[in-house]
Amino acid sequence: MTLNDDRRLSVLKKISWVLAVIAAPTFAAQPVDVAQEIQRVQDEFPQCLQSFAEQAKSQGVSDDTIKTHLANLKVVKRVIELDRRQPEFTSTFAGYFDQRVTDWRVNKGRQLLEEHRQFLNSLTKQYGIPAQYLLAFWGMETNFGGYKGKMPVLDSLATLACDHRRSKFFTKELITALQLSQKYQFPAEKMQGSWAGAMGHTQFMPSAYASYAVDADGDGKADLWSSTEDALASAANFLQHLGWQRSQRWGREVLLPDGFDYTQIGQSKPLVEWQHLGLKEANGHRLPVADMRATLILPAGHQGPAFIGYDNFEVIKRWNRSDFYAISVGHLADRIIGAGKLAKAPPQQQRRSREQIKVLQQKLNELGFDAGKPDGILGSNSRKSLRAFQASKGLIPDGFPDDATFNALGISGS
Ligand code: CA
Repeated sequence: MTLNDDRRLSVLKKISWVLAVIAAPTFAAQPVDVAQEIQRVQDEFPQCLQSFAEQAKSQGVSDDTIKTHLANLKVVKRVIELDRRQPEFTSTFAGYFDQRVTDWRVNKGRQLLEEHRQFLNSLTKQYGIPAQYLLAFWGMETNFGGYKGKMPVLDSLATLACDHRRSKFFTKELITALQLSQKYQFPAEKMQGSWAGAMGHTQFMPSAYASYAVDADGDGKADLWSSTEDALASAANFLQHLGWQRSQRWGREVLLPDGFDYTQIGQSKPLVEWQHLGLKEANGHRLPVADMRATLILPAGHQGPAFIGYDNFEVIKRWNRSDFYAISVGHLADRIIGAGKLAKAPPQQQRRSREQIKVLQQKLNELGFDAGKPDGILGSNSRKSLRAFQASKGLIPDGFPDDATFNALGISGS
């Protein structure tokens, strides 16, 4: 996953329905004494349980549910370790995309489209989400239910809620999870998921589960672990609430004309303007135009494929705030209904470490291109500064730290 820890945390803070299926890149040594923090959570856990019980009771959780679940909650050390990890390297677009949009997933998606066609069509009619997108989210989140996570969700949430870092957010999720277990009579053993509490086929956090999960198979429970129908309908309901535009695509791959002004990366313009600027469909055809805006995205810089994202691209990012994720969902959806591979394959590029990005930011600052405080993360400020530097050296100003840029800065990028 491309989301670095900080961005992921900001997502967790901002939104309660984040889906936390995180790939496992290489991690540097722990910068803080995690053992000490685990100890603190363990020491404070009895007090935390007391506080959870009071809050749960005040929010309608029955004494029975509290007694059944709270007494058995345990601190999961691994959850704190995972929460504190710092990815050493950023992933490349190819590294991310090629692992997620695989032939296996495309074929499985096509097979499931046949298998569930009638039901999926009924969801499209009711919620406005085309079948291929529902399948793409399902494939991205859990490999179509193949891996839904094995961490005990109530324990994980209680651990994170007792931990100081994001206590408020996870306390709310824990109480909601208790309400769900009470409402649907889910035993604790059933409630498994990611280390951060995302559950079932579609990896919903408890708050998303409570707000958007639906019972589509009619057994009286919205069951995102055992019912494929419930899970697909819940994803459709969620996407509708996130603002999915019924008649629009997610976006598409585009070809840029020779002499393109790369400073327009990341800009949102009416489609007709992009067409006038010479953007074409990936097959070379004239860009179809509707009364819509689109944002230009080059996830691997000028050497890689280019995309324009429509309104639904932003909707996908409300599910998971990552361009890599949104492009992968959109392209997987296209492939499931028969599209071919990208016209321009994601290029194999050098992974950069956070340390290398920090050095790059320091160098930009030294040269008078304000990259902000060096933190090893290329945010919009750093990219802007990088573009200005690239332009000053006659390089393509795509804000992407390729080898030529590292060379021009006189620093090592490998
Ligand atoms: Ca059901």
